[in-house]
Amino acid sequence: MDIPPYAQTAFEILESAGFEAWIVGGFIRDTLMGRSDNARDIDMATSATWRETKRAFVEAGFSAHETGTDHGTVTVVVDGHAIEITTYRIDGMYTDSRHPDTVSLASTIEDDLARRDFTVNALAYHPRRGLIDPYGGFSDIEDGILRTVGEPLRRFGEDSLRILRGCRFASQLGFDFDPVTFEAMCAAKSKTLSLSRERVSHEIDLFITGSHVHDALLRCIDVLAAVLPELVALKGFDQKSVFHCYDVLEHTAWVVHNTPAHPLVRWAALLHDIGKPAACYESDGARHFRGHPEISIIIGRGLLQRLGYSSKFTEQVLSLVKRHDDRIAATRKAVRSALRDLDGDTALFIALCQLKRADAMAKAPEYRMRAQTCESLLEILNEILAAEEPFTREGLAINGNDVIALGVAPGPEVACALDAALDAVIEEEVGNSLDELVAFVESWVSSR
Ligand code: ATP
Ligand code: MG
Repeated sequence: MDIPPYAQTAFEILESAGFEAWIVGGFIRDTLMGRSDNARDIDMATSATWRETKRAFVEAGFSAHETGTDHGTVTVVVDGHAIEITTYRIDGMYTDSRHPDTVSLASTIEDDLARRDFTVNALAYHPRRGLIDPYGGFSDIEDGILRTVGEPLRRFGEDSLRILRGCRFASQLGFDFDPVTFEAMCAAKSKTLSLSRERVSHEIDLFITGSHVHDALLRCIDVLAAVLPELVALKGFDQKSVFHCYDVLEHTAWVVHNTPAHPLVRWAALLHDIGKPAACYESDGARHFRGHPEISIIIGRGLLQRLGYSSKFTEQVLSLVKRHDDRIAATRKAVRSALRDLDGDTALFIALCQLKRADAMAKAPEYRMRAQTCESLLEILNEILAAEEPFTREGLAINGNDVIALGVAPGPEVACALDAALDAVIEEEVGNSLDELVAFVESWVSSR
C-alpha cells in the first residue's frame, strides 16, 4: 500500500522518539478500495500520549494542535497536510449514548481497534509491519458489507452517532449492511434523537453527497426516519401519473443521485417533492400535486431549521425547491428573467438547472428528454455572461443618481424606476445604453 511522504515523516518522528504508530481509519479503508485520494486526511493511532506526540512533532519543527486532548488527539501538520494522531485507547462506559464517561489508555493497537465502529474502519497499517485486521474488515471491504465491531446493539447503544455513520458509509462507499447490524440500526434509531444537531446535519450532508446515495436512501430510509421523519410519507407513495415511473421516495432518490455532489443542490433535490403526499388529489384515477412546491417549502423549512442550518442556506435551498417545476424557456429573455428573480445569483441559477435536469431524468422515460432543455439553459447563461447582458439593477447602464437627476424622488421610487428599466431591458424593449434608458425613465416618470 502506498502511503504519502508526509505520513512517512510522521512515522519517523514518532518512532525515533521511541513510540509505535499505525495508520488507521478511512485512509486504509479507502486505499484498499482503490478510492485513494491523496488530499484526504490521515488518522494515526500511537502508543504515545498526546503530550508526547505533541512534543515529538514540535521538537522536529512541525506544528501540533490540541484538537481533542480529552480523548488523546492532537492534529499535526506535516508539509501542509493535517494528520490526526490519537493515543491507543479503550472507551469506558457510555451513559449518554454519545460520549464515553472515561477514556483509558490501551497498550496495544489491537485493543484500540476494538473500540472502532465498523470492521471496515478497524484496520491498521504500518509500512513495514503490514495490515492488522482482527475483525475481518478486509473481507467485508471486498464483499461491500458494513458490520459493527462487536455486538451491534451494544455498540449503537454506546454511541448512536455510529448509526448515522453507518448510513453515511453506505452512501459514500456503496456498501450494504450485515443483516444483524442493520436490524440493530433500526432498533436503536430513536437514540439518534439525542445527538446534537451539528452532528446530525454533518452526517446527513455526507450522506446526501455520497456517490451511492440512491441505493443508500432506499436502504436507510427506515433508519433515517428518526432524524428525517418528513421523508417517511414518500416511501411507497404511488404517483399514479403518466409523468412518473417511481414512487416519490425512489424518484427523490434518483433526483438526489443525478445532481452534482454539493449540499445545496442535493438538499433541494431531497426536499423538492416532500410536499407531494400532502398536495395530492385524485381525479379519474390519476394523482395531481398542484402547489406541491409551496408545501415542500413549509416542510423543508421546518426540517432545515430543526437541523440548525443557517437561514441563508435554508432560503437558498428553498428558493430552488420553489422553482423546481417552473418552466423556463430556452431563450435569453427567459433566462435573464429567471436570473433577475434569483437576485442575479448565477450559482443558484446553475443549481436550479442541475435540479431541473436531475428531476427530468428521474421521470418516466418518455419525459426524460426535458433534461435537454436544462443543458440549453446553461449554454444560454454562458452567452448572457459573455455578452455582459444585464439581469440586475447593477448591470444597467443607468444608476440611482441618474434616475434622481431625471426627477425621481430619492427613496423607494428610485428602485421602482430601476426595476422598470431592468424589466424593459430584459424584455428587449429598450437597449442597455444610457441614452435609451434616460428616455425610458423620462417617459416612466411622466406616466406616473
Ligand atoms: P472519513 O474520514 O472518510 O470521514 P473515517 O472512517 O476516517 O472516515 P473519522 O471520523 O475520520 O472516519 O474517524 C476515524 C476512525 O475513527 C474511523 O475509521 C473509526 O475507526 C473511528 N471512529 C470514528 N468515529 C467513531 C465512533 N463514533 N465510534 C467508533 N469509532 C469511531
Ligand atoms: Mg478520517
